[in-house]
Amino acid sequence: MSTPPRSRRLAPATVAVAGGRPPRDQGAPVNPPVVLSSTYTSTGEPGEDLLYARYDTETWWPLEQTLATLEQAELPGLVFSSGMGAIDALLRLAEPRSAIVVPRHAYLATLTAVREQADREGTVVREVDIADTEQVVAALRPAGEPAASLLWVESPTNPMLEVADVPALAAAAREAGALCVVDNTFATPLVQRPLTQGADVVVHSVTKHLAGHSDVVLGAALTSDPELRRRLHARRTTGGAIPGPFETWLALRGLRTLALRVERAQANALELARRLAEHPAVAHVGHPGLPTHPQHERAAALMDGFGSILTLRPAGGAAAADAVTRNVDVWLPATSLGGVESSLERRRRLAAEVPTVPEDLLRLSVGIEDVEDLWADLDGALETAARSLQAVSR
Ligand SMILES: *Cc1c(COP(=O)(O)O)cnc(C)c1O
Repeated sequence: MSTPPRSRRLAPATVAVAGGRPPRDQGAPVNPPVVLSSTYTSTGEPGEDLLYARYDTETWWPLEQTLATLEQAELPGLVFSSGMGAIDALLRLAEPRSAIVVPRHAYLATLTAVREQADREGTVVREVDIADTEQVVAALRPAGEPAASLLWVESPTNPMLEVADVPALAAAAREAGALCVVDNTFATPLVQRPLTQGADVVVHSVTKHLAGHSDVVLGAALTSDPELRRRLHARRTTGGAIPGPFETWLALRGLRTLALRVERAQANALELARRLAEHPAVAHVGHPGLPTHPQHERAAALMDGFGSILTLRPAGGAAAADAVTRNVDVWLPATSLGGVESSLERRRRLAAEVPTVPEDLLRLSVGIEDVEDLWADLDGALETAARSLQAVSR
């Protein structure tokens, strides 16, 4: 694999395109090959060479290297079969009978995994408002209770879009002797690089913005700490949550256009957020780019953009929110996020969703379509929803 010239740090947009290419030998392919082999020729005592594809396989390397460069990790990343595969491996870094501090609005499956781990291993879970730095810091070492060995950060959170002060939280975790892990799925390394802000590990659902086409499920963990990487690699090998070569190749292919996609999706999201805030059939719009967002100034200071997710609460409540999802044509009514296509979902339709997420909240993942088409479709669906509810109430 060729590494980009080191004299000058390349911009993320360039890294996404140039990272992980094969060496430029005469007649060499410009894309890394997909190697389909579960095992490797070997005799005698195994050394550093490839041995068996659950331990390591060369189709992972271009993506692992490119993600590491994007997140400014000093070591290659580790790809997993899904974001949850990576998260499961990371949660096992928590010490038995210690505490795990986690955002109360973390990704739903993360919360489930944290609680299951607590039941299994006697860890204590402390759920916090991750935007409230004082509250999070106080939860690391409360008097008379187990100290935290792991601080889990998600920023912005899913789906409430709370923005954490990552540098302050990472520093507090270090001082308290806890590992700081940041789920950077929503922001992407184009918008926020938590390892440069003091985090120990960054985790991604590559499924979302990084792969970007809703055609692959994949995860990754990035760290500059050799011992942490060794433990995560060992967990991946034993747990077996490894991605297939095709999925890994697809994710790298999707990553090539990350900068263009993020740029367009963010611009669309901000424009739609501004227009929706004025819409008569809308009660509330949440987006870190709006001055009305409680952490707008923090987001402006810490992030290179505001992401492309927004929340929308129609004036007519949960019934109106459901009606909106039935009346869109361009927007896709579906869970997940970060694809080229715009999608939306009423989160509380999922029985397991956290009860502090409002019943009527729609999570919108803004894609790269023409913004006027997105606006016309949503505006029409909001009006149809409002009209149909009025008809019912008459
Ligand atoms: C989707 C998601 C995950 C889980 O990733 P999978 O690839 O679906 O396993 C974790 N964190 C966040 C913020 C997500 O959006």
